[in-house]
Amino acid sequence: MKSLVERFERYLNTGIKPEHTSEVNRQIFVANLFSFIGYTITFLMGISAFVRANYILSFSLLLASALFYFSHYILKFDQINNAHKISSRIVLSCLLILMIYLVKTGGYHQTGPLWMYIVPPVAFFFGGLRRGLMTIAGFVAIVIVLLFYPEDSLLTVTYTYEFKTRLLYSFLTVTSLFAFYEYSRQESYKEIQELSQKFERQARQDSLTNLPNRRGMTKHLEYEFNRSQRSKQDMSVLLCDIDHFKKINDTYGHDAGDCVLVRISDIFQNSLRKQDIVARWGGEEFLFMLPETHAQEAYILAEKIRKKISEHAFTVNEKSINVTVSIGISPVNDDYSIEQAINLADHFLYQAKAHGRNKSLPEPNKG
Ligand code: GH3
Ligand code: MG
Ligand code: MG
Repeated sequence: MKSLVERFERYLNTGIKPEHTSEVNRQIFVANLFSFIGYTITFLMGISAFVRANYILSFSLLLASALFYFSHYILKFDQINNAHKISSRIVLSCLLILMIYLVKTGGYHQTGPLWMYIVPPVAFFFGGLRRGLMTIAGFVAIVIVLLFYPEDSLLTVTYTYEFKTRLLYSFLTVTSLFAFYEYSRQESYKEIQELSQKFERQARQDSLTNLPNRRGMTKHLEYEFNRSQRSKQDMSVLLCDIDHFKKINDTYGHDAGDCVLVRISDIFQNSLRKQDIVARWGGEEFLFMLPETHAQEAYILAEKIRKKISEHAFTVNEKSINVTVSIGISPVNDDYSIEQAINLADHFLYQAKAHGRNKSLPEPNKG
């Protein structure tokens, strides 16, 4: 029993991959479920039609059953691109053809058209609102032609006029209800997506300075490090810390300290090239990532930033504040992974502090 449940679970999860979006994986799961329901029902109905000696109906149902199974089967092959799209198209086309066939022949004792109500949910589920509506419009057009062709010459059964019209009215009512439902679902999905992207962005950004925070910067660092390793390019990092920042807070207040952090962040960003990234690494500590930059060039940039800050006239509440920074520099390469490079930059930052602050270290000729 347990192994049967496990096998069924495995069946439903065929084709589901972590690299797909959750929406796609949900579609694959439901495509598997529909294909299972489709092929078991059509198989049983096909056998029953065979026993009743209705061979054409039996053959059509068994063929549909095989196609439903095939739609699941192709999901097993990783090599097939967009297998889930092909699979859902097979399920939908199979269903539409079967429904048209049931309307035309009446199926079992003229109850065949009742199965039409399966079409709207399946069409919307696989195609979304727009495609779903287009599919249903095409389907309804074919059904109208079949039902109302003069003298019923396209039908192999006879339906009353009342049955035909009520069938269409009720089908269109069900379609509009499903369309409305699908529209609301898509809208809430979009809203949730936007919210999740916003939270994701916020989780990677510092709210005071709008710079990437440590978490956001770690992603940039990993990406750039791999890229620089592949292209054998130099890369450097700078670790920059505001000197005596505690004193600024103590003398002018915490809000003044915040203003200095925001202003300094703007200056940093305006001093960088397009490929460089600066992040708020800690309280008053900033990490710069400089791709395609040799340690000597990094020193020149560090000095440029340091001088810019020391010469800038910071004013908070009409009081002018002197601000300086100390900077530690490190290359990132085969010998210094990101973590080691940051530790080395931290070591030089500590030395810059010990040597009187307002300094960048190591100087190229001395390092
Ligand atoms: P040093 O030159 O050795 O770096 O001295 P410092 O005073 O800058 O360093 P210390 O580590 O003693 O103090 C850092 C201060 O930065 C303490 C903390 O309250 C302040 N700080 C950290 N984050 C913020 C913030 O977001 N806003 C403000 N206003 N202050 C902050
Ligand atoms: Mg400091
Ligand atoms: Mg500090």
